[in-house]
Amino acid sequence: MTNQPVALVTGASRGIGRAIALELARAGHALVVNFVSRREAAEEVVGEISAAGGEAFTAQGDVGRRDDRAALVEQTLDRFGRIDVLVNNAGITSQGRKDLLEASEESWDRVFDTNLKGPFFLSQQVAREMIRLKAAGTIDGGKMVNISSVSAYAISTDRADYCLTKSALRTMTQLYAARLADEGIGVFEICPGVIESDMTAPVREKYDRLIAEGLWPIRRWGQPEDVARAVAAIVADSFPFSTGERINVDGGFHIRRL
Ligand code: NAP
Repeated sequence: MTNQPVALVTGASRGIGRAIALELARAGHALVVNFVSRREAAEEVVGEISAAGGEAFTAQGDVGRRDDRAALVEQTLDRFGRIDVLVNNAGITSQGRKDLLEASEESWDRVFDTNLKGPFFLSQQVAREMIRLKAAGTIDGGKMVNISSVSAYAISTDRADYCLTKSALRTMTQLYAARLADEGIGVFEICPGVIESDMTAPVREKYDRLIAEGLWPIRRWGQPEDVARAVAAIVADSFPFSTGERINVDGGFHIRRL
């Protein structure tokens, strides 16, 4: 049991999820640091939080798998006795980045399981728990944040499955926002632009050039911390009369220009 609010961040071992976990820990949350395969990286995140006096533990689990999702929530409640925040961050890009005409069902299944089925059913499960915990007086309300992408609207023909999951995540945010408002649970989408992480390492040079040419107005790489700060603002209840809202963290990429 903990008196701190508790945040479960999926894919918190690296990149954006790691930065979100560290930022929420700094803001006074106890953290569940989920990962799928890189245990050491997740343990480092927990080590960093513990060294700063915070509470955290690692929780292995593939968000695309029903049993793993159930275990993730069970471990959170066993350990901390509550859940106040869910950040659906874990995500993978299209496997092999194949052209639309070559795209495989194997990639489709993996990307949809991780990026859409996982967040959808984890949100469902966590929402049920939040409603129960609120009725019991354990939590005041909840927040859910879904990490989408500019790929929700800016298509890449070599990453069709990725784009489709991210645009669906947008609708998912609105579905849960509408359903959970009466329960005191706010649901938000954060739409990152190109962020420096392992995911974008293979396209580093391409974006170095495009950024210098001014592809988006703020001419630099996005950093995981840029996304983390936006999540922290939502979680801190800085938008109390908003839900289903999208925050672009993209250097202004979404602005259409002539
Ligand atoms: P990343 O550096 O590749 O890290 C991915 C994280 O997700 C890792 O912690 C990984 O765990 C975890 N993960 C992968 N599959 C998982 C699964 N099935 N179950 C649980 N965890 C899983 O990626 P990132 O760049 O930080 O991206 C994080 C999120 O932001 C993704 O949803 C991505 O689509 C989105 N996003 C990224 C960018 C960008 O430019 N980087 C832009 C827009 C949106 P392990 O360490 O155990 O592998």
